[in-house]
Amino acid sequence: MSLHDDTLSRLRAAGELAHLSADLVLLLSHPERVIELELPVRLDDDSLRLFHGYRVQWNDALGPFKGGLRYHPKVDLDEVKGLAALMTIKCAVMGLPFGGAKGGVQVEPKALSQAELERLTRALVRALDGDIGPTRDVPAPDVGTTAEMMDWFADEYGQMIGRAEPAVATGKTVGRGGSEGREQATGFGVYHVFESLRKGHIIEPGSGTVVVQGFGNVGQEVARQFISHGYGMVGVADSLGAIYREEGLDLKALQAHKLITGSVRGFPGAREVTPQELLTLPCDVLIPSALERQLTAGIAPHVQAKIILEAANGPTTSEADMLFAKRGIIVIPDVLANAGGVCVSWFEWQQNREGRRWSEVQVLERLSALLTVAAEDVASRSKRYATTLRMAAYALALERLAEVVR
Ligand code: NAD
Repeated sequence: MSLHDDTLSRLRAAGELAHLSADLVLLLSHPERVIELELPVRLDDDSLRLFHGYRVQWNDALGPFKGGLRYHPKVDLDEVKGLAALMTIKCAVMGLPFGGAKGGVQVEPKALSQAELERLTRALVRALDGDIGPTRDVPAPDVGTTAEMMDWFADEYGQMIGRAEPAVATGKTVGRGGSEGREQATGFGVYHVFESLRKGHIIEPGSGTVVVQGFGNVGQEVARQFISHGYGMVGVADSLGAIYREEGLDLKALQAHKLITGSVRGFPGAREVTPQELLTLPCDVLIPSALERQLTAGIAPHVQAKIILEAANGPTTSEADMLFAKRGIIVIPDVLANAGGVCVSWFEWQQNREGRRWSEVQVLERLSALLTVAAEDVASRSKRYATTLRMAAYALALERLAEVVR
């Protein structure tokens, strides 16, 4: 099963749980539109290359399509569809006035120069032409894309329509209309959701160790949040390697090591482990923060964490979910746990449209309030339906979508 299949089977199961009509579930199980793109880009050596990409607009019942853009060599349509469906659920769980979408281009961004990446991003905007806009479809960064790329995106769109329109993309740099707090929003939110559920006694108080898989935008901020609240990070991985240190890893030194060497691998004082071993290390909280489908039926029986906190999108397969439920391991689902990013994207969109700026304190206060309410809503549905937090979140999202779609 793919992420797309997993998401649809969860959606159907939640539809039954919340007694929603089959028609509604049918409508929400298909994208409204799939756009396939061939992007011509002039490389620095003057050769021309075509890059293949997609934008999947899943559902816009609650508001404009919203979702990240991914630059990764393994992007495929099925994955983008699954991620677009997840965004629809996530925005509905958070009560945001946005629908769900996702985009991706098959490219290894590390193999292109900055100038080539800029030409690729601008080509993408031109190819999407009438399909994007502040009230139509609003992209944001995801794996392999950055705030600077969102600046190029908004700039190219502004040139196309003949006026500045920063609200066409979120996750921009602060100087170009980005919001204060956006960079740390996802990681901040992951920790805040964890704490909200802990205070609500939905999860046991953490006694203190975390393992983080993925050390990019999200993983590094998640690590910073947990460590600054007194947890020890004993294991961490990026795409090139994984390390373990029972006594805990020094985050600042590790970030400096990654900056110099390009990986967490080879960090002095830590033991190298395999990527699979990392997921089965003894710890209280395992935090997948890399790619989807990392926790599978093969690995689930060996996971030693008490809680899985999904900072990444779609890291746990349906089969693994069932095994975790049987073993009493709590999974805090992506559609709630990592929603901080899209919430601050909404704040950025509002600020751009109103021509105002909010301070970092205002942003994080509003974000905390939104996340606390969503975590309580999900937890109360989990009790009401006697189901997992994931199924409860999906049921909540479907109830909200049903009101509008009907
Ligand atoms: P990123 O590109 O900044 O970082 C990804 C990290 O994962 C990198 O450190 C990379 O080396 C590592 N990685 C890749 N494959 C790996 C593997 N097989 N094993 C271990 N590590 C691996 O991306 P990001 O923005 O941090 O996004 C990470 C996840 O969080 C994705 O699932 C993304 O969809 C999700 N997410 C991101 C945001 C956001 O605001 N950026 C918001 C919500 C969800």
